[in-house]
Parts: sequence; C-alpha cells; structure tokens
Amino acid sequence: MKKKIVIIGGGTAGITTAAMLKNKSLNFEISIIDPSEDHYYQPLWTLVGGGIFNKEKSMKKMKDVIPSGTTWIQDSVKTFDPESNSVYLNEQTDPITYDYLIICPGIQIDWDKVKGLREAMGKNGVCSNYDYNYVDYTWKFIQKTKSGNALFTYPNTPIKCGGAPQKIMYLAEEFFRKVNQRNNINVEFVTAGERVFGVQKYREALERIIKDRGINTSFNLNLTKVDGQNNIAFFTNAKTGEVVEKEYNLLHAVPPMSAPDFIKESPISDNAGWVDVDKFTLQHNKYKNIFSLGDASSLPTSKTGAAIRKEAPVLVNNLVLYDQGKELIHKYNGYTSCPLVTGYSKVIMAEFDYDGNPLESFPFDQSKERYSMFLAKKYGIPFMYWNAMLNGYTG
Ligand SMILES: Cc1cc2nc3c(=O)[nH]c(=O)nc-3n(C[C@H](O)[C@H](O)[C@H](O)COP(=O)(O)OP(=O)(O)OC[C@H]3O[C@@H](n4cnc5c(N)ncnc54)[C@H](O)[C@@H]3O)c2cc1C
Repeated sequence: MKKKIVIIGGGTAGITTAAMLKNKSLNFEISIIDPSEDHYYQPLWTLVGGGIFNKEKSMKKMKDVIPSGTTWIQDSVKTFDPESNSVYLNEQTDPITYDYLIICPGIQIDWDKVKGLREAMGKNGVCSNYDYNYVDYTWKFIQKTKSGNALFTYPNTPIKCGGAPQKIMYLAEEFFRKVNQRNNINVEFVTAGERVFGVQKYREALERIIKDRGINTSFNLNLTKVDGQNNIAFFTNAKTGEVVEKEYNLLHAVPPMSAPDFIKESPISDNAGWVDVDKFTLQHNKYKNIFSLGDASSLPTSKTGAAIRKEAPVLVNNLVLYDQGKELIHKYNGYTSCPLVTGYSKVIMAEFDYDGNPLESFPFDQSKERYSMFLAKKYGIPFMYWNAMLNGYTG
C-alpha cells in the first residue's frame, strides 16, 4: 500500500515540494490541501505596484499548477492532531490521515492590528503591495501624488520579503523624478527597525542610494493607526513609547504579519507560533513525520520564495531518507535571496545565509545596482518560477 503524504498549502512551497516528490516516482500518494482558486507569484507585486505589469500576470489557476498525479483537496485546514496523524477540515467530516505531513500555509497578514488601515485601504493615497486585491492601488496613487509626504512603512514583526517595503519606494521615487514632481515630495522610509537592511554588505549599498537620492529615514517607528479621513498615520516609537503623527499624501503600508492562527493554536508550533522545525533538516522537532518549509516555518531566515528554492530539495531528500529509516544528512544553510529593485532599470541582487554571509551566484559584486539583475527580476526569475520551480526543478 502507498504511504500518504499530505501537504497543507499549495503556494510556492507546497507546489514545488509536491512536484519534486512526484518527480522522484516513489511509492507515495500525495494530497495538497488549499482552499484558494488561484496561485500567486507574489514577487511580481513589487513590479505591479510600480506600474510595470498588470496584476493578472502574477496569477494562475490553482488547478493548472497542481502537479499531475497529486490530489487537490480544495478546502482549508482548521486544526490537526499530530498524535493520531490527523488533519481536520471541519467538525462534520472525518479527519484526513497521513503518514507524512508537510506544513506550508504561508504567513498570515494581520491587517486589523493597525487600527483603521483596512478601512483606509484604496482611499486617499493608502495602498499596499502585500495583497493581490490592493496592489493596483499602489500604482494608481503613486501617479496621483504631486506633493507632500510619501511614506513607506515597515512593521515590527517578521514579514515576507524583507526588501519589498523599500523596493516600491525606490520605484516611486524614480517615477516622481520622471514626472518632475520630486522637488515637491518628501519620500520617507518609516521603519519599526533600526536599520534599512540586515546584511551589512547590501545595507551599505542601500544607505548610499538613500543618501544620494535624498530619501529620508525614520527608525524605531511602528505604524499603529491610520486616520484615513484626515490622511494622518500614527506611529509608536519602539524605544520611548511616544506616538508620532505624520501626514501623508501617499502611504504605502506594510501590515504586521504572523504565523497563521491555526498553526499558533496547535501543538506543533514554537513559542512564536511558527511550525517548530530543525533549522537544518526541516524536520519537526517533536513529531518526526512532520516537516515544514516556507513562510510558516520557524526557519530563521528571511522569508522568500528564493529560500524555498533551496529548502524544498533538502526537505524532500530528508523525508525520503527518514522513510527509509536512514539518517537525515541534507542540511539547509539558510540561503535566501532578495532582488532589491532600486529603480526601473536597476536591481541589487542580495543573496545570503543564516549568518548574513553573502552567498552570491554570479562572479561579480552583487551589491552594485545592475540592469542585468533587473532583467533577471522582471523576466528571468518569473520564467524559472512558472516553468521550472513549480515543476519541481530548482537547479
Ligand atoms: C510584495 C511581495 C514581494 C515579494 N518579493 C519577493 C522576491 O522578490 N523574491 C522572493 O523570493 N520572494 C518574494 N516574496 C515572498 C514570497 O512570495 C513568499 O516568501 C512565498 O510565496 C512563500 O511561500 P509559501 O508557500 O510559504 O506561502 P504562500 O506562497 O503564501 O502560499 C501559502 C498557501 O497556503 C494556503 N493556505 C493558507 N491557509 C491555509 C489553510 N488553513 N489550509 C490550507 N491551505 C492554506 C494559501 O491559500 C496559499 O495558497 C514577496 C512577497 C510579497 C508579498
């Protein structure tokens, strides 16, 4: 009898992993549980917000990316019981049982943790690239901004793609110059963090760009409230607790994020709510037949699709070894990548590991802005995503 692998989430991690397992032609029966009709290539949303692509380019029907030979259960997981190897979709039907469980439902966006943000979205200059339904507003409002403050926020939680909050700022800033409005607009990065980027090599490059282009920065300021009627954003200072008000004409808001609630409330999460896995083998620290990757996992790296490209083969190979009763010898080193879009023709291609050491793929200094890397971001990587990665080929 075939052993059953159940995958929770048919996003970047779920589809890549399922396809990779399928390609190995092993004796597994694979099911993917995901309620969504659609699958998104989210990295494109930066370029959608910058007016380069229509958002439809970032989406495919889920049925068209589910690997052949796997079963798609179009439903959402409510909870699970790892002691009895069971996944529950609701209280009425029997649980789905598994031999192996792969958990990758992504990160949860906590829009309502910023008071007034959801209500303000799409009105009077408030936008965000962090949702397919909102991403159009970004380009609309960038074009409408003629003066005043253009604020780009970064929250005090882990987020997906740590570079994305500032990528859209560089695009907007270049656009304002192109249409001769730059002198009338204060472009400001307002972050709850203490720095513009974690890895020193790329941080120094970004700091130079910020200085050269006259962008202002405010640190330790976390967006906590939006008064959409009066165009005022409220920030709380992480150090002093003081509330700082800033008027805006454009507010690109990046909401707080966390592990999905059904993971937080389950016995498989760590203290912060993420799926508690070994950072090298991707196996659950307590339940050995459970693995996790992607944004919902506890892997302490920057949460990106690029990270999943390196996590998936480690997970798949280790799961197969575990099934054979062998030692898990494959180790993930925290590799992640962030194509830092700094304009309409420039990208700094940041690549690094768990320790913040650059792990660059090309034989040149990747902290320099390059047109070739912009072309990779715009055309090369999306092509590889749809045609190779989602078919289980990660190079
Ligand atoms: C604006 C933006 C820019 C980005 N830029 C980049 C970039 O340049 N490079 C890069 O590599 N990455 C980038 N990313 C990050 C990248 O998109 C994510 O890291 C990646 O999609 C995470 O994959 P995942 O499979 O963990 O989650 P997702 O791809 O988000 O998929 C999660 C899936 O789980 C499903 N799900 C949720 N809850 C349940 C449930 N209860 N039951 C069953 N299924 C469920 C969802 O429907 C979804 O299909 C960006 C993201 C954004 C938003």
